[in-house]
Amino acid sequence: MIKVRNVRKEFVQGQERTEVLKGVDLTVEEGEFLAIMGPSGSGKSTLLHLLGGLDTPTEGEVRIRQSDLSQMSEKKRTIFRRQHIGFVFQNYQLLNSLTVEENVAFPLHADGSLTKEDDKRIQQLLGSVGLEGLGGKRANLLSGGQQQRVAIARALVNRPSVLLADEPTGNLDRQRAEEILALITRLNRENNQTIVMVTHDIFAAGFADRIVLFKDGVIDQVISRKDEDYAQYLANFLA
Ligand code: ADP
Ligand code: MG
Repeated sequence: MIKVRNVRKEFVQGQERTEVLKGVDLTVEEGEFLAIMGPSGSGKSTLLHLLGGLDTPTEGEVRIRQSDLSQMSEKKRTIFRRQHIGFVFQNYQLLNSLTVEENVAFPLHADGSLTKEDDKRIQQLLGSVGLEGLGGKRANLLSGGQQQRVAIARALVNRPSVLLADEPTGNLDRQRAEEILALITRLNRENNQTIVMVTHDIFAAGFADRIVLFKDGVIDQVISRKDEDYAQYLANFLA
């Protein structure tokens, strides 16, 4: 489904070059729920941006199904992203002057005006994220947890096969975080959606099938739910 091969990424600012990803190899299976953890600044968000075609690697390949994102023009990547990828950012990035419905509909607008079908889809999505009846409210009048659910509905409106989430529970209290994680897990199971979630929270990572630990631009360790010592691993983390 997702194949990352020997990916390096460096940023150049003036005379300074920073190598942020130093050779990353990763395969994510169709329908897998993968969590990425690691210290701040280790390159997690950079990798997520590459997976979503928001940026291109300096070297190496990022493939989603048969498509090589690293070889696409920016225009093609934008179209590919709209068709295949849903993105949930840590700070929601909702448009505050728009209503909940308008925010969720936003990725559809670029393809023309809303049809009756689109409208039905939006109402259905709002229901599935537990926001029925709130579609007409202005986005900035909702709580943090509700805003994050709007962001998830928006990410799903185009029925993406891949959902990428960057610390989706980072700004939420435990109860709201649990709701969001339960929702993400349900989407993963019911729609066989492939999910890659960056998180600093081992509790959140515990919902995933596999946890990838990042360190200084490379993958340091991979732990799978299938591993014998998985439970012990999580327990050690929490201790
Ligand atoms: P993480 O998400 O693991 O905290 P990031 O991927 O956001 O880490 O960032 C890793 C490093 O790359 C940081 O040192 C950050 O300053 C740098 N970086 C990220 N994006 C850019 C950019 N667009 N230009 C220059 N440096 C960047
Ligand atoms: Mg980050």
